[in-house]
Amino acid sequence: MGLMTRQNYLDSLDDGRKVLVDGKTVGDVRSHPALAPMVETVARIYDLHNDPARADVMTFERRDGVVGSRFYKAPESREDLALRRRMTTCILREICPTMDRFGDETVTALFTLVDRSDLLDRFDTRYARNAARWLDELQRENLFMTSGNTDPKGDRSRQPFEQDDLDLNTRVVEERSDGIVLRGAKFETGAPYAHVAFIKPTIGNWSPQNADFAIACIVQLNAPGVRMMCRVPQYHGGAANANAFDYPLTSGFDEVDTLIIFDDVFIPWEDVMFARQPELAALIRGELGRWAAQGYLTRCLAKADLLVGAALLVSEHSGTIKIPPVRSKISQLMMHHKAIEAFLLAAEADCEATPSGLTMPNQAIQNAGRIYCSQTYGTMVQILREIIGGQPVMLPGEEMLNSPETRDDVMKYFAGAGYDAPTRLRAMHLARELTASAYAGRTQAYQLFAETPIFAQESALFATYDRESSMALARRMAGLERPAEPASEPGPEPVQAEPEVEVQHG
Ligand SMILES: Cc1cc2nc3c(=O)[nH]c(=O)nc-3n(C[C@H](O)[C@H](O)[C@H](O)COP(=O)(O)OP(=O)(O)OC[C@H]3O[C@@H](n4cnc5c(N)ncnc54)[C@H](O)[C@@H]3O)c2cc1C
Repeated sequence: MGLMTRQNYLDSLDDGRKVLVDGKTVGDVRSHPALAPMVETVARIYDLHNDPARADVMTFERRDGVVGSRFYKAPESREDLALRRRMTTCILREICPTMDRFGDETVTALFTLVDRSDLLDRFDTRYARNAARWLDELQRENLFMTSGNTDPKGDRSRQPFEQDDLDLNTRVVEERSDGIVLRGAKFETGAPYAHVAFIKPTIGNWSPQNADFAIACIVQLNAPGVRMMCRVPQYHGGAANANAFDYPLTSGFDEVDTLIIFDDVFIPWEDVMFARQPELAALIRGELGRWAAQGYLTRCLAKADLLVGAALLVSEHSGTIKIPPVRSKISQLMMHHKAIEAFLLAAEADCEATPSGLTMPNQAIQNAGRIYCSQTYGTMVQILREIIGGQPVMLPGEEMLNSPETRDDVMKYFAGAGYDAPTRLRAMHLARELTASAYAGRTQAYQLFAETPIFAQESALFATYDRESSMALARRMAGLERPAEPASEPGPEPVQAEPEVEVQHG
């Protein structure tokens, strides 16, 4: 069919999917108030893909001459990494810098599987073939793929096979000649308005007893037995009910997080990347974040840019920008913004080759950047809060501005340093949405958890850091250099190569 257009995308959502909002089945996700704004936002991303002026950034020409979506191109060079960054930045700048889930980073685990074809082949030669076939299809059609790693889990102190209810972790309940049957549930952002979900193992102990849970596959979101339970909307009844003046982010960009339930869903073998392979789940998980974190850092950079912009706007409108301590605080925000940019660019500049010849960002730099971003987003928001003061949480909305009864008061008391009330109110409502709204709370939770919890990010950094080099330096400075010839007495134990600890993106 070629790259999907806006209209193809809208038509494709009329596919019998089962989505529930506020306890009720949604008739049409395209017109439901909780989902319609995000459907329109994703349609705008399809417009960008089909805009000739953006073809170099959003698409690429495959070796067979077919135009593919750059979302789904596994990077083969530093230039490819730079283009991926520019592609994601284009969407975040053109549409919304606080948006997270639109498909470019959810696919990256598939790059890893394609990269490790040799490993998959040792278990079942269908696996790598399936991963390659899916990558091909995604490139050609530009389907919207979301990502499901996180299971409900139940009692975290017990392993999946020890739970009273085994369905608390997604598992294979039956293997047939033509496919597998999946039961359980996964959390997933954006699923109600996406096409397919990439289901992968979550953080866990991949012992043989957990074999049924060691599964990676692609699920069609309208498949029989799939139902999606949306979280409570951030605005009563759904984002479409929110006024864009009062809620500039919520009204257009409330990405809907969902629990997808798999009620004995049949998955044909062609869509299975591995099943009942704990060894593969453990091995593969260490590498799942290789390219995903580039997308995360690019998003963090865009968010930091918006925080700086909001700080500058609000302080200019109220005149505080002339006060040196306020400028100092804004500089602190700028420092975080530039630090994120430095992590992103350095990881790209110092990129590494994978065994199969793909190119990935420098893993240790990228992992360090990821921890930095997860840890500091809350700090950045707190700095913005201090800059904007308390008034943003005490504002009238557009209805007060337009009402003949209240307009004069709003115009008089909410004007600022040479800026009229409507201008100032717009900037302060944006700042409120970034610091003191349900939207702000979710964004902070996303920053903390959706890439993977910080403890797992720290393990990933430990695994990818060149520890031997640092230890050699410390050894030399401590006078502990090893003798050239093996000593008769055993020397200090070298650092053992550890399996990379699982990293996941939400
Ligand atoms: C806005 C948002 C969107 C998301 N979107 C997606 C998505 O699209 N797809 C997806 O798969 N997931 C998604 N997630 C889920 C995210 O990946 C999880 O929240 C994350 O993995 C943590 O899991 P949990 O919330 O179940 O926390 P829990 O497992 O309940 O953990 C709670 C706390 O205990 C700590 N903890 C747990 N186990 C350990 C341990 N072994 N060692 C040390 N500390 C531990 C955690 O760090 C955390 O602080 C999203 C999350 C958010 C907030």
